[in-house]
Amino acid sequence: MSNVFASTHPLVAHKLTRLRDRNTDPKRFRELVREISGLLAYEATADLETVAREVQTPLERTTGVELQDKIGLVPILRAGLGMVEGIWELMPSAEVWHIGLYRDEKTLRPVEYYNKLPIEPTVSVCLILDPMLATGGSASATTDVLKRWGVRRIKFVGLIGAPEGIAVMQRAHPDVAIFLAAIDNHLNERAYIVPGLGDAGDRQFGTG
Ligand code: URA
Repeated sequence: MSNVFASTHPLVAHKLTRLRDRNTDPKRFRELVREISGLLAYEATADLETVAREVQTPLERTTGVELQDKIGLVPILRAGLGMVEGIWELMPSAEVWHIGLYRDEKTLRPVEYYNKLPIEPTVSVCLILDPMLATGGSASATTDVLKRWGVRRIKFVGLIGAPEGIAVMQRAHPDVAIFLAAIDNHLNERAYIVPGLGDAGDRQFGTG
């Protein structure tokens, strides 16, 4: 589990508890998803590359840095959408590339239904965004898509991970670091994370 990071920050733990609460309404749920995502992205981007940049303060010239990496945020539709804003506020020049996957009920494999990536990669680092790392099928398929696109540095940012999904990602993509607010106990027979928070898409969009 060397590249799996589960936050130990009290702010994240506090907000995640509110998020799990079945009485949290969709508006507050969306706010919490946005807030936690920003906090996790802060950790996930700790190794971004920078270049030196001169700046004139009111007192003198000094050398600072600016980000060199071109960042792509890749929300997996639809639940990943709610994670975009909180991260985009921190890195407004990031590009956002949506990936749509659904689960084929016969094969239980993810099937791609939306992907408008151009032929050549336009970013150097991608953050895959999906609140729930459950079976790992969507995360792994999205990583395949991004690697085929030509991106070499990929991270996964989610809210809650199941051990089963983490294991799938680590087997298929050991190079992809995983950033989570928590690792839960297990998946139930319907592939929901337990204790989890229910359906992250339904709870954001009020469709449950
Ligand atoms: N997707 C969800 O929204 N919730 C889960 O528990 C698992 C997958």
